[in-house]
Amino acid sequence: MPDKKTVYQVIVNEIFYSIQGESSYAGSPCIFVRLTGCNLRCTYCDTRYAFHEGIGMNLSDIRDRIRKYNCRLVEITGGEPLIQKATPQLIDMLLADRYTVLLETNGSQDISIVNKDCIKIMDIKCPSSGEEHKNYFYNIGHLGEKDEIKFVIGNRTDYEYAKAIVETNGLTEKNTVFFSPVFGIMKPEILAKWILNDQLEIRLNIQLHKIIWNPNARGV
Ligand code: SF4
Repeated sequence: MPDKKTVYQVIVNEIFYSIQGESSYAGSPCIFVRLTGCNLRCTYCDTRYAFHEGIGMNLSDIRDRIRKYNCRLVEITGGEPLIQKATPQLIDMLLADRYTVLLETNGSQDISIVNKDCIKIMDIKCPSSGEEHKNYFYNIGHLGEKDEIKFVIGNRTDYEYAKAIVETNGLTEKNTVFFSPVFGIMKPEILAKWILNDQLEIRLNIQLHKIIWNPNARGV
């Protein structure tokens, strides 16, 4: 729980209500809190506007904004939420308010500092991202059974890389694992065929929000 004497603040890029486009929660109405800043620069990044734009908000102000929606599912996303010091306190506050809290994280930051009741959706970066050397593999040992893992796949090299990591670490034994095609670069049907040919216990993740709305739209 946050210390009552301390006013915690995070830099917020946007707060919006939309349909969850990814993970096993895809299709569910969800409140998104997008935090500013990211320590990575993935080649395919579609949220570059979140690198620098944002305003400081007290956690209580975020709570007030969220309460306006008739929705119990909140996702903390970015950017990379865990580069902000008060993100664990934000998550604790939302859990204390009995929200189901999802955290999208790029896999380069220590997730062991996050409340275990928060559902982490953790990326493992593949070579075409240009950032696979930032993967913090120690995190795998700190994933709970409700947490999910996502590999964004841009080509066959990424696919082989992801497959090897899944097999070496037995990732599908405990966690739901998604392979997600890079939008506009990797055809979903090709990735689907690879998964089926290899009979992998992997779920194909399609970014629903990019199908429903303009793929370049913000706040959806
Ligand atoms: S981790 Fe996410 S927000 Fe950061 S650069 Fe990569 S895709 Fe963009």
